[in-house]
Amino acid sequence: MPSETIKVLIPRLPSTDALLPYLNRIDSARIYSNYGPLHHEFSARLSQLTGAPGITITCNGTSAIELALRVRAKSGRRYCLMPAFTFIASAHAVCNAGLTPFLLDVSEQHMMLTPEIVEAALPQLDEPPAAVLVVSAFGAPPDFSRWKAFEAKHGIPVVFDAAAAVTALDGVGEQPVCVSLHATKVVGIGEGGAILCSDRDLIERTTAMTGFGFLGAERVSAIQGGNYRISEYAAAVGMAVMDGLPARLEALRKLSRAYLERLKTKDVRVQRGVGDEWVTMTFNVVVRPEALQATLERLDAQHIEWRRWWGLGCHRHPAFADAPRCNLTTTDALAPRVIGLPFHDRLSEQDLDRIADCLP
Ligand SMILES: *Cc1c(COP(=O)(O)O)cnc(C)c1O
Repeated sequence: MPSETIKVLIPRLPSTDALLPYLNRIDSARIYSNYGPLHHEFSARLSQLTGAPGITITCNGTSAIELALRVRAKSGRRYCLMPAFTFIASAHAVCNAGLTPFLLDVSEQHMMLTPEIVEAALPQLDEPPAAVLVVSAFGAPPDFSRWKAFEAKHGIPVVFDAAAAVTALDGVGEQPVCVSLHATKVVGIGEGGAILCSDRDLIERTTAMTGFGFLGAERVSAIQGGNYRISEYAAAVGMAVMDGLPARLEALRKLSRAYLERLKTKDVRVQRGVGDEWVTMTFNVVVRPEALQATLERLDAQHIEWRRWWGLGCHRHPAFADAPRCNLTTTDALAPRVIGLPFHDRLSEQDLDRIADCLP
């Protein structure tokens, strides 16, 4: 008999029972959107969780990146430097901010953009860039201090797409950090996002931009924005997620360690600090080129789902095939070998053994 399929991801949002107290509060308050009481409480809890002094809640992670870029990018400039290796949402956000994605390579070690990669690219551009979008690789914390030094040195604004890293952040500063609250992310509320930043003025502006640019009490549009708010129902889910977060993080840590234990004897690489210093909702291994094909065939034969969460790079998508770029040698060599393994709360020890058996 063929063994049962092991799914790659099974998201879980709070149960109806966990939501009820918050839904009852909405019934009583009869406030349904426009920065209501649950929105405020959820913002405060996210701010506490991340240590970020300022926070703007948005309707998704992609729009958080868009708004942060709209505020920070140097006006009159065209290009936003960004890694080719990221989830395609990053490239859409750059375009929605009125900028052109300019694709750069990533470091083999961290799978992220580094200040060195950007510095090597700068002389190859025909004009100075408007901004740099630095992407956290699958929830790993970006190196905030190095990027702060980069910005101080070059005067090029930096924005972080740390979509999957909301529980891994330490030391959020003046460079905005954008996170996703999508159902598949660690603080998943269905759809949602946030901009985290210590710059109060930036947060005031991005928050105003989520509600038609109204600044202050009057219904006067001071900045161009749009409607990027979440409803009180989404905030209610957020409150219930925060209630359950310690238990979820503990489960994710346990599962990561169960994987790490099994990988000790294996010839695959994992991201630095995963499972010990930070956790997220996916678990990726980097497979050697010569072992890749056979590994994927073994997983398929065992009915074990796997996924290249970021595909083969932005430049491989038809919508961004014409994006200007520098040499992407590392991305092209790395992207096919970054394999997302099953990672969810229905995996048994036997399932993990079965998965590990397929790895080189
Ligand atoms: C999830 C994700 C996004 C998009 O977030 P949404 O909330 O789905 O809009 C952007 N960038 C990266 C790296 C992501 O993983």
